[in-house]
Amino acid sequence: MDPQMKSDSPIVITGAGGFIGGHLVKYFFDKGFKRIRAVDKRPLDHWYQLHSAAENLCLDCSSEEVCRKVCEGAAEVYNLAADMGGMGFIERFRVECLRSILINTHMIDSAHRAGVQRYFYASSACVYNTELQQDPNVLALKESDAYPAMAERGYGWEKLISEMFCQEYHAERGMKTFIARFHNVYGPFGTWDGGREKAPAAICRKVVEAMDSHSGTIEIWGDGHQSRSFMYIDDCVKGIDMIMHCDQLVATPVNLGSSELVTINELVDKVEKIAGVKLRRSYKLDAPRGVAGRNSDNTFIQQILHWEPKTSLDTGLRETYLWIREQHQKRKKGLRVVA
Ligand code: NAD
Repeated sequence: MDPQMKSDSPIVITGAGGFIGGHLVKYFFDKGFKRIRAVDKRPLDHWYQLHSAAENLCLDCSSEEVCRKVCEGAAEVYNLAADMGGMGFIERFRVECLRSILINTHMIDSAHRAGVQRYFYASSACVYNTELQQDPNVLALKESDAYPAMAERGYGWEKLISEMFCQEYHAERGMKTFIARFHNVYGPFGTWDGGREKAPAAICRKVVEAMDSHSGTIEIWGDGHQSRSFMYIDDCVKGIDMIMHCDQLVATPVNLGSSELVTINELVDKVEKIAGVKLRRSYKLDAPRGVAGRNSDNTFIQQILHWEPKTSLDTGLRETYLWIREQHQKRKKGLRVVA
């Protein structure tokens, strides 16, 4: 932690009504920070987690005026707000993804004007050159693989240019900025239904639904041979903290992900095992499937921070499955849930 940071130093977290932002607010409260401004454009009753001790604000950070207000008096800013989702969302809604450029553009400038000490930007593995990801037995992606650039259309390019804003606000204006490239984060209190959910949550939900309806079948997007790595949320928030407070990483994009590569079929095997079921698989070959393979090369983060995510996929998936099953049951009983 920054020696200048006191427990009453104000921290701003945008996207706090979402999955990672909600966990990050909790993480800093648990660490003893008392003044957390949590911001999201969702109405408060749609936040995955609402921590009553935070200053919770429902505001749209794509407006410059709002960002000025949000950053006022802040010591640190964590910008996690973005219009995003899994492949089903980012392949269909590229304009929405690109428009998130407004959020970081105004947030970083407002943070700089407010004199914040450190600024964090949540980037993504989608910045990597897609041509390097055509094979499910992909070589893990190292930080330099983002250039020459051929990022994921829409979402990936928005992340790449926002990274550059962070780098130039440091180079020209001296602000300490930090950039983590997240690789598929999963866990409880995240999107699990409605079209924005990512593979682990979608598969957990489909298994729960198949068991509930006794259909005996699960639909899988693509041929199931696509490979990915998945990082549990607790590792992600710890990693954000470590990256943000490491001066060696100023303005330097760093992978934050697991290097445990699995295929989507293997992911389904794991969830079936947790649920104690075996389902017939129906492959939807025309569904969004993303690149063929993607994994995180963690050499750099290990070298600098001597650290890698430690939650195994089996452990993290169990927590996620149990939470999604609970949400499903609550919804069936007519109780309100945030999906
Ligand atoms: P999320 O969708 O759960 O959270 C993002 C939140 O940002 C949402 O609650 C949304 O309402 C909010 N938001 C969107 N536009 C806003 C605006 N104009 N003003 C204020 N709030 C706004 O997503 P997440 O999984 O928590 O992701 C957090 C960040 O991490 C995002 O920047 C995302 O691109 C990045 N990321 C996530 C993953 C992942 O696997 N979850 C992977 C790579 C990168």
